[in-house]
Amino acid sequence: VAGLLSGKRALVMGVANDHSIAWGIARKLAEAGAEIAFTYQGDSLKKRVGPLAASIGSDILLPCDVEDEASVKSVFAALKEKWGSLDILVHAIAFSDKSELKGRYADTTRANFSRTMVISCFSFTEVARQAAELMTNGGSMITLTYGGSVRVMPNYNVMGVAKAALEASVRYLASDFGPNNIRVNAISAGPVRTLAGAGIADARLMFNFQTRHAPLRRTVTIDEVGGAALYLLSDLGSGVTGEIHYVDSGYNIISMPQPESLKL
Ligand code: NAD
Repeated sequence: VAGLLSGKRALVMGVANDHSIAWGIARKLAEAGAEIAFTYQGDSLKKRVGPLAASIGSDILLPCDVEDEASVKSVFAALKEKWGSLDILVHAIAFSDKSELKGRYADTTRANFSRTMVISCFSFTEVARQAAELMTNGGSMITLTYGGSVRVMPNYNVMGVAKAALEASVRYLASDFGPNNIRVNAISAGPVRTLAGAGIADARLMFNFQTRHAPLRRTVTIDEVGGAALYLLSDLGSGVTGEIHYVDSGYNIISMPQPESLKL
């Protein structure tokens, strides 16, 4: 992959630590020669993201809380000043109150529904629009989703609804930006042990179920998500836009648990 992205500039949003999916993606982009800017949410994460960014030669580290419109704007103003243009955007941001990532979806509150939607869905539309303005030579962007958007996954609840809206926004954004040669796709990753993943009740159960029943009989690594991201974000994926690309060891294709694990 060396040189595949040389001369390209990428903004990566959503690294919290070295387990983050966004970090797996950033590493692949760096290996391919991209120059990378990172955002971080709050000072406590700056301490973690700073050394990671430095380890791949990045010195652009910008604070961003997507709940705050001004904070989003300032990221793109800073990038415009430093780089002038942008080629790649990675959005790997989601949040919902942990107390609603368990039990019934029906019990979702109005306040947490709105907050989850703003952070986990609308933020992609907002950053995509501002990124697109800087993608004057075309570009490619991805967000991260999960199969709980199309099938009911216990405890995923309001996040599943937000991911369904996020996937729909990928298609609308792909249509809006296509004439500017800007591609918009999503990666639907299988369960990965991250901070966000740990917020979902019985995450370990989901993890084990996937390991037992996915065609590949295992979960995926952040490196594997990074590899698929590299394809979508580079010219390798130049004909692909508006797609929801599964990187989940094939889990989404099965309709019943593997017979070997059932005592029928
Ligand atoms: P993570 O905890 O490492 O990353 C989540 C990121 O979201 C963090 O960097 C956090 O700072 C950021 N974030 C949350 N609220 C924010 C806000 N208001 N402003 C700015 N940033 C904010 O976890 P992850 O699993 O790597 O999550 C990345 C993406 O991947 C999310 O969209 C998640 O839904 C998705 N995803 C995760 C899994 C999984 O199993 N872990 C599976 C499929 C999809």
